[in-house]
Amino acid sequence: MLLLAAAFDYGALGNSNQMVYVCTGPTAYAYHCTPNCRGLNKCSASIKCVTLSEAYAMGRSKPCGWCH
Ligand SMILES: [Zn+2]
Repeated sequence: MLLLAAAFDYGALGNSNQMVYVCTGPTAYAYHCTPNCRGLNKCSASIKCVTLSEAYAMGRSKPCGWCH
């Protein structure tokens, strides 16, 4: 996972080591700053805590509209 994240250069985003929360479901596309976000309430899979760069690598490239 760390090697995968390192393959992407997201330096322009600033602190890519920031911890965010993502839903592991197939339709998720956003990352969240809190696991209690209402945007994660509809997550049908599990919620995972990852770094921002890992979230991007997983395709969660948009900040959630509720908690960001
Ligand atoms: Zn959110």
